[in-house]
Amino acid sequence: MTTYLRPEIESLAEYTLAQHPYRIKLNQNENPFELAGEIKEEILARLSDQKWSRYPPFVPEAQTKALARFIGWDYEGVLIGNGSNELLQLIFMAVLERGKAVVISQPTFTLYAILARGLAADVHNVLMRRDLSFDVNQIIATAKESRASLIVLCSPNNPTGTFLSRSDLCRILDGTDGLVVLDEAYVHFAPESQIELLKKYDKLVILQTFSKAMGAAGLRVGYAAMPPPLARNLNKLKLPYNVNIFSLTALEVFLERWTDIKSWIDVLKKERSRLHARLQEFKGIQVYPSAANFLLMETRRKLPSEIFKGLLERGILIRDVSSYPLLQHAMRVSIGTPPENDAFIDALKEIL
Ligand code: PMP
Repeated sequence: MTTYLRPEIESLAEYTLAQHPYRIKLNQNENPFELAGEIKEEILARLSDQKWSRYPPFVPEAQTKALARFIGWDYEGVLIGNGSNELLQLIFMAVLERGKAVVISQPTFTLYAILARGLAADVHNVLMRRDLSFDVNQIIATAKESRASLIVLCSPNNPTGTFLSRSDLCRILDGTDGLVVLDEAYVHFAPESQIELLKKYDKLVILQTFSKAMGAAGLRVGYAAMPPPLARNLNKLKLPYNVNIFSLTALEVFLERWTDIKSWIDVLKKERSRLHARLQEFKGIQVYPSAANFLLMETRRKLPSEIFKGLLERGILIRDVSSYPLLQHAMRVSIGTPPENDAFIDALKEIL
């Protein structure tokens, strides 16, 4: 068949998510809490004061400034995206092309490799160690050998929950020449952010999102922090008006509600410890330490696909990650509300 597409597009694996009916949703690492009705009304009221017939501001200055204050970084070094995925795509497009190399620590968020392959870049995967810690030496060696233009790190890492320490990140930044993208989608559940390092390194970009801890996955808001000169250049390639007035307005209100959101995060962090301890009580289940709002667990007692199916029959949807490198026996479960987590544990008991 004649194709008009570049050959690498046809050979790409699809980024899919099967739809299943569920009662309890623990498969996409979303925040299970929802903003109160009156806060949603506040967002809608602010929206009705605006002109929907007009484009959003050319530069969403107020929201970018609010975000810059929130993360403690220079306003001129912050870009807002329609989800952090959009900004990932922007950065990859700006850096990668045929003949350029990218290093990706695996297993991780599948979108990185899809975007890089779609741009015909050479993807060099570096496996984590058997204990699912980052193989820092191998990341540096591979980046050097391949003369990588881009090194992609996710911390806390999806789907393992692994946190990359500041000293390990500095070793990677000091030991390599490419642009380092650090995806901090789950940072609000972690011990610290690495935003501080932007003061020291001019080749670091940090991505964060409203889709996880902020409880706003449906709004599609993500942002990237980087040195201002890099932001100015990336801005040239960013689609104009990429974030609509609904998302921009909600972003403001969500930031004003940070104290409420923080209390959700505290609940979820407590639940993470509780669920971790409960899972460890099961014979033959290994649970990994997690700095994110999900846990990775392994068992050889049953296939992940069987456990997935058993849970689904009981209305509980988790993620079978057994097709990821190194994770043949693994499943990932998002931290839900306390009753949701209890229901998950009870169902697991019945299945195993
Ligand atoms: N980065 C990582 C590591 C993720 O797991 C996800 C969500 N699956 C995203 C980014 C997507 O973020 P957004 O909704 O902001 O596009």
